[in-house]
Amino acid sequence: MYNVMSPKAEEFISHEEIQETLAYAEKNKNNRELLEQILEKAKLRKGLSHREAAVLLDCELADINQQIYALAQQIKKDFYGNRIVMFAPLYLSNYCINGCEYCPYHLKNKHIARKKLTQEEIVKEVMALQDMGHKRLALEAGEDPINNPIEYILECIHTIYGIKHKNGAIRRVNVNIAATTVENYRKLKEAGIGTYILFQETYNKESYEKLHPTGPKHDYVYHTEAMDRAMEGGIDDVGLGVLFGLNNYRYDFTGILMHAEHLEAYKGVGPHTISVPRLRRADDIDPDVFDNGISDDIFEKIVACIRIAVPYTGMIVSTRESKACREKALRLGISQISGASRTSVGGYAKPEPEEENSAQFDVSDNRTLDEVVRWLMEMDYVPSFCTACYREGRTGDRFMTLLKSGQIVNCCHPNALMTLKEYLEDYASPKTREIGDKLIEKELDVITNPKVKEKVIDYLANIHNGQRDFRF
Ligand code: SAM
Repeated sequence: MYNVMSPKAEEFISHEEIQETLAYAEKNKNNRELLEQILEKAKLRKGLSHREAAVLLDCELADINQQIYALAQQIKKDFYGNRIVMFAPLYLSNYCINGCEYCPYHLKNKHIARKKLTQEEIVKEVMALQDMGHKRLALEAGEDPINNPIEYILECIHTIYGIKHKNGAIRRVNVNIAATTVENYRKLKEAGIGTYILFQETYNKESYEKLHPTGPKHDYVYHTEAMDRAMEGGIDDVGLGVLFGLNNYRYDFTGILMHAEHLEAYKGVGPHTISVPRLRRADDIDPDVFDNGISDDIFEKIVACIRIAVPYTGMIVSTRESKACREKALRLGISQISGASRTSVGGYAKPEPEEENSAQFDVSDNRTLDEVVRWLMEMDYVPSFCTACYREGRTGDRFMTLLKSGQIVNCCHPNALMTLKEYLEDYASPKTREIGDKLIEKELDVITNPKVKEKVIDYLANIHNGQRDFRF
């Protein structure tokens, strides 16, 4: 039976509730009166229930869809302004004992090059990432208790935080590793991670079990309850995601919102982020079975509806998506993107020869970080390398309080401008620096508190003169 407060996966993600929701959405997809009511509620910017959001997702009325997109854009602006947080994934190891049918790291893939970074190799990778200008990483690893035990992940985190190369520093390490125990989550928390990210892949238990036929990841309940354990272990920023293209997107859209509702109700704080990865072609994966199943139009609708349903949750899109697709998704709700990503193990320090391919999937957006940063600024976004909230202890509900206080313009915005300035000084090409300096000048006007603005102007001059790491 459906129970948002239940600790049991099959009760907070109830199959029956999802099926009823999908039937309700199908029945009402052109019910103008209901759609208008839902839109009115959405305009209060307090979010929507999974049922309400599912009706919007299914809606076929062109004028209502236009209103959905317009509202998503407005909510994005109101909550996140024009800041876009930048990050890069760092693949530590592709050893994996799972049998995920869509992932080339699956155990039965005998021809992919298996690699695991040594601590020396991590130093090289991180120096290469720092030399691009990255400050925030998402660590990625396959699941393998022998090759990638928790001690290895902890050692990597320790190494990464310790690397100070020129003006570079990784200031926030997020972690995307397999579901684990409360004890291990506590260790990750103590190691100073930012967000713990785990994609559900699909919320449909039957599909999930088929897609994960072997290995520890086969256990749907253990996987689905992972975020509760992570929070029990003290991690209060967690990142949800489903891999769109694996299963019926309407099912997984409803499931992810139910998961967010569960965390909010049961743990008092919703997810920090929601990722919207789409399946990509990959080594040893049959393209006829896994063909990136959802269209760009559906993808955009999903982004817009998530934005409306959970206004306080950041949204992430990776380089799995093309420049054109990312551009649309940014307008509709995305607040974090990766740039210049490599999905191979060791791919930043030196490009891999083709015969040695260890990559997880092909990326669509192959641009350099400088190109991505410039592209964002040309669209009037402020690329942000900020990591201040987590370092100031503003995580979980304390972060949400800041978001709800309306003080973002006097806190996040200055931090974004200052970290952008660092990027421009240390890593940008002359053209990007010129565009960026003009943008910063203009964006100072967004800061409403005159004292804060004065301080920021001071700090920006100090950054130009070589000092680093100012934050509010
Ligand atoms: N091993 C960990 C786990 O199982 O959760 C996490 C790391 S895995 C490197 C990160 C994510 O990549 C997976 O959760 C999955 O959603 C995604 N992924 C796997 N195969 C993919 C593919 N062919 N295309 C796009 N994303 C893929």
